Amino acid sequence: MPTYTPPLRDMQFVLHELLNVAEEYKAIPKHADVDADTINAILEEGGKFAAEVAFPLNIAGDTEGCTLNRDTHEVTTPTGFKEAYAKYIEGGWPALSCDPEYGGQGLPFTLNQNIYEMMNSANQAWTMYPGLSHGAYECLHAHGTDEQKKTYMTKLVSGEWTGTMCLTEPHCGTDLGMLRTKAEPQADGTYRITGNKIFISAGEHDFTPNIIHLVLARLPDAPQGSKGISLFVVPKFKVNADGSLGERNGIHCGGLEHKMGIHGNATAQLVLDGAIGTLVGEPNKGLSAMFVMMNAARLGVGNQSLGLTEVAYQNALAYAKDRIQMRSLSGVKAKDKPADPIIVHPDVRKMLLTAKAYAEGGRALATYCALLLDKEIHHPDEKVRKDSAELVALLTPIVKAFLTDNGWTSTSACLQVFGGHGYIKEWGMEQYVRDSRINMIYEGTNTVQSLDLLGRKILGNNGATLKKFGKLVARLVEEEGVNEKMAEFINPIAYLGDQMTKFTTELGFKGMQNADEVGAAAVDYLRVLGHLVFGYFWARMAQVALKQIEAGNTDPFYVAKLQTARFYFARLFPETAMLMRTARAGVKNLLDTDEALA
Ligand SMILES: Cc1cc2nc3c(=O)[nH]c(=O)nc-3n(C[C@H](O)[C@H](O)[C@H](O)COP(=O)(O)OP(=O)(O)OC[C@H]3O[C@@H](n4cnc5c(N)ncnc54)[C@H](O)[C@@H]3O)c2cc1C
Repeated sequence: MPTYTPPLRDMQFVLHELLNVAEEYKAIPKHADVDADTINAILEEGGKFAAEVAFPLNIAGDTEGCTLNRDTHEVTTPTGFKEAYAKYIEGGWPALSCDPEYGGQGLPFTLNQNIYEMMNSANQAWTMYPGLSHGAYECLHAHGTDEQKKTYMTKLVSGEWTGTMCLTEPHCGTDLGMLRTKAEPQADGTYRITGNKIFISAGEHDFTPNIIHLVLARLPDAPQGSKGISLFVVPKFKVNADGSLGERNGIHCGGLEHKMGIHGNATAQLVLDGAIGTLVGEPNKGLSAMFVMMNAARLGVGNQSLGLTEVAYQNALAYAKDRIQMRSLSGVKAKDKPADPIIVHPDVRKMLLTAKAYAEGGRALATYCALLLDKEIHHPDEKVRKDSAELVALLTPIVKAFLTDNGWTSTSACLQVFGGHGYIKEWGMEQYVRDSRINMIYEGTNTVQSLDLLGRKILGNNGATLKKFGKLVARLVEEEGVNEKMAEFINPIAYLGDQMTKFTTELGFKGMQNADEVGAAAVDYLRVLGHLVFGYFWARMAQVALKQIEAGNTDPFYVAKLQTARFYFARLFPETAMLMRTARAGVKNLLDTDEALA
């Protein structure tokens, strides 16, 4: 059976020593009172909820899954899930970083990020129920009418109702421009919505009396393609003027998907049969309104894999210390035992350190993005808000795709540490691998993320935002360029940072001649930039650790940080050289292959 210990020490390192968030909050009036002690106390409580309430339900939830009653169309979630949700509401967790105007606690988003990481480690399938509600809250907060806010916001904030995002249809996932769900305007200003949605996470469940669906659909006179999509809010139960539940709306669950992982989360086929909804935002501008939810969800999905990477690592580490097998190549290490613990073997260490470096690097990046979001929304200085928004937009596809690719690599490596036992259900490791796989697919596949990054966010603005990130790297290089002790961390990012401009320009020129060149290079490109970003954070983490050690701090945490940084730069970062080469290999070897793929 796996175990889970919330990584509070590392979270505190990132929040207080690396990012100095309490200091940053002093410049944001809304968060000026949030100090380190408050942050630590909330994280500790959140960690308790994750480890003591959500985590014990993870394996049972995977085994039991969700069931649909075909007569009533109601879904029963695994045993204990509903009760855990009740505790989650009771603890006030849904309201943590929500607007006080709607009953929220108004705390920084950064805190929510860390709490969600722990809940994802504990139980990704369960965490998706409240996770999607938060996205629906953000979308309505940004684009809802006063009436919609009045009707839905306080209930979403308190967690009394949950939310979903309904985009996908059987014939369209990536290409939402093809969606067919129709919305017919009614005389009373509402819309009657008809169509079929599939793969809707948390689309039906028994946690709450109502579910608020955010649905993409097409108005009768809508232009074709993605410019003709509108967004609607469609409650499972209609809501009376006094806020009480009205009659059942025409939306029901027609089936549940049988899938590879996240069995505890109900992935619903939803049938909309003249369901009554109201328009969110402007007609035909639904995709941009939905992007509020999608962007939040993309960061959330990266966070899911971060959580799985951490919990898989913790368990693989414990196993590697305990399991004895063979002797160390360089001589006996555990003389009192018939064999050495497998942690003595270099390749076992490589697998463990890969997961550790990806977990800690991912935590630094994800927390940094959350801080940028806090600044984007609440910083008094317009320039800071604008810069933060641009940076977070650049980093979002990296959080989504790089962290989830790394999560897959890491959970698989951690399973491998267990040998054959990792493949057996009892140890829980195969569940982490299965659960992590979906994260590379939903919320826009990782290929789509890479096209968004290279095509739209980098080449689309002539590299302007990339330069902003480049300036952060350049500043660190300038700061530490002459510090010999930092050379092993600074030189690789300085070198890659220099190459990045030429590399990007080269791909941009090729793309102008043939747009498929961008598609051929984008996935490799995203990983290269992902490593530059991780390299930057690993160098900064090494900088903090070195300063502590030089000041006489003997906490082994800092030595561990330096050792992990060294591993990262020696063993993971060099992947960039190969990726730059393959990105440059061009599109011909991919598209000139009709006979090979006949
Ligand atoms: C468990 C689960 C939960 C989900 N939850 C939700 C949810 O809550 N709400 C919701 O609306 N949807 C949800 N989805 C749907 C998910 O977002 C889609 O599956 C995903 O966007 C991909 O769409 P698709 O499956 O139709 O694949 P397709 O779009 O058919 O893509 C197939 C392949 O082609 C590739 N491809 C497509 N277009 C391009 C291109 N232009 N260039 C390069 N490659 C391309 C894709 O990357 C992919 O590898 C969920 C799916 C699953 C499995």
